Amino acid sequence: MLGLMQDYPLLVHTVLDHAALNHGEREMVTRSIEGPMRRYNYRDLRVRSLRVAKALQLEGVGIGDRIATMAWNTDRHVETWYGIMGLGAICHTLNPRLFAEQLIYIINHAEDRILFIDLTFVPLAEAIAAHLPTITKYIILTDDEHMPETSLANAVAFETWLDGADADFSWASFDENTAAALCYTSGTTGNPKGVLYSHRSNVLHGLMCNQPDVLGVNSSDNILPIVPMFHANAWALTYAVPTAGASLIMPGAGMDGRSIYELLDTEKVSASAAVPTVWLGLLQHLKENDLELPWLKRVLIGGAACPRMMIETLENKYDVEVIHGWGMTEMSPVGTTGKMKNSTMHLKGEELIKLKLKQGRTPYMVEMKIVDDDGNELPRDGKTAGHLLVRGPAVSSAYYNHDKSILLEGGWFDSGDIAHIDELGYMQITDRDKDVIKSGGEWISSIEIENTAIGCEGIAEAAVIGIAHPKWTERPLLIVVRETGSEVSENEILAYLDGKIAKWWIPEAVEFIDEIPHTATGKIQKMKLREQFGGYRF
Ligand code: ADP
Repeated sequence: MLGLMQDYPLLVHTVLDHAALNHGEREMVTRSIEGPMRRYNYRDLRVRSLRVAKALQLEGVGIGDRIATMAWNTDRHVETWYGIMGLGAICHTLNPRLFAEQLIYIINHAEDRILFIDLTFVPLAEAIAAHLPTITKYIILTDDEHMPETSLANAVAFETWLDGADADFSWASFDENTAAALCYTSGTTGNPKGVLYSHRSNVLHGLMCNQPDVLGVNSSDNILPIVPMFHANAWALTYAVPTAGASLIMPGAGMDGRSIYELLDTEKVSASAAVPTVWLGLLQHLKENDLELPWLKRVLIGGAACPRMMIETLENKYDVEVIHGWGMTEMSPVGTTGKMKNSTMHLKGEELIKLKLKQGRTPYMVEMKIVDDDGNELPRDGKTAGHLLVRGPAVSSAYYNHDKSILLEGGWFDSGDIAHIDELGYMQITDRDKDVIKSGGEWISSIEIENTAIGCEGIAEAAVIGIAHPKWTERPLLIVVRETGSEVSENEILAYLDGKIAKWWIPEAVEFIDEIPHTATGKIQKMKLREQFGGYRF
């Protein structure tokens, strides 16, 4: 027998309708690419998004068409995002930090029809346009006054283009499982793969992120999503924030410590989200200028392991709660967050920081487990590490136009991470499965050595890779970038590590280099390092 409740499809534009009707006066503030701050409210956002949808329809765009954006977090990007999805087309966010060949591959693979771009990326688009046969129009996210000279075919200023459409438009209606957005993983191995979100998965994931033990967004918050919309849905914030009726503060292209601080201060931002490198920039700016953070209450930090120093400084010095999170593009992306719970509230000092360094526990709608190489489930004892598998309504079941199934028996998706989970459900990532160091039949966590090494005076960045060893199969090599002016030596670093990690985890050697290679989403490119140190022997 079926229940007798309404068949109300979970469509992302209903989020915007809700925000405009019930929180219409709440502000959306943008640091524009042209320079000045721009402010309007959710009512304006909805009207302008409807106009984008209508203008796209006039271009002949319809359900299932892929429309790409290459843009910072701004009001115009959000309008474009909701306009595309509200028409039933697919909003394909492009990461401008990818290599040109990767962008060309991705745009052609998705067969994008129109490209919306920020002024910043016009030169980048011009450089690759000759290789993009499916793109018939370039819409530059600016007005006529700021429109640059460009060689791009059919280029038009967004505001001029939008003038051709009023808001007399009704959102399209379709099944909630209809595709809404497309985002390619950066493809550290092989070609990038397209993760195709649905309206349903995006709405559910946005609601999931508003739970108090995730980011807990509510109607009195002012939220600054620093994590870009092209990095896995800005971690759901562009859905979660309007759902809650919180104010949305958009940083545009200003990712440096000074620009971020200005917004945190003038807009009284209560919560924000970004990768560790962004917070490093902010902390440095605060220290150099002796500043405080009176409004900021909590920050979500993820995408890479959050260093201990960052948690300690933000929490103890600035009274900002750090919520350490883990996730991946294939998970929409949030998988776990490390909020305290009743049974951990009493923790203090070292015990507390140890828990905060873990990536956290799953909210309702994410399931996870760890398994050994043969797929047998491993215990939740906080020690035994295994392959981390996940499933849930906002986890990928396949990649776009890719026939290979990606699910294991039982519908589990292998995250590619190695982790352990404790009795209370807190998970800790110890490695990527490709990076794990196998020494004498046991696994050594490269991430834990790196995080510990970072605490040593004079080290700016650290990476650990496994080097072949005749007796132990592999042994860890620590690769270090020194802070400017530092002379820290191999012996000093090894002495620092002594007693902080297991004896047999102590690296065999330390090598110093000028720069550690990073991916477009800021992760250390271990593959590159392994190539670079390919012939290395201890
Ligand atoms: P890519 O950067 O390859 O496009 P994602 O941005 O989806 O992919 O990155 C997902 C991966 O990032 C995870 O599988 C994990 O290895 C790593 N990651 C994310 N958050 C954390 C975290 N808090 N600690 C450690 N690793 C993390």
